[in-house]
Amino acid sequence: MSVHLGPCIRGCCYVVGPEVAARFPAAALRDVDGTRYLDLPTAARMRLVAAGVAASAIHDTGACTACEPSLYFSHRRDHGLTGRQWGVIALAG
Ligand SMILES: [Zn+2]
Repeated sequence: MSVHLGPCIRGCCYVVGPEVAARFPAAALRDVDGTRYLDLPTAARMRLVAAGVAASAIHDTGACTACEPSLYFSHRRDHGLTGRQWGVIALAG
């Protein structure tokens, strides 16, 4: 099994409140000047490894949708007035 984590909002931009932060492991959160940020790829990676996926089989684009407006839509960055991304998965034989 190989897992690829695509572009998403990341810990550099994803501000969350305590009700959201409480649902994620501390390792996926960081606090900067009283603001809490959630890194979804870290949380996903932790759950994947806990489910038995080898860490070496998890690949990450590292792209943050909120940081790269020329490449990605971002609901948070654009306050809901934005487009949507699509992901396509194919099984190659
Ligand atoms: Zn970002």
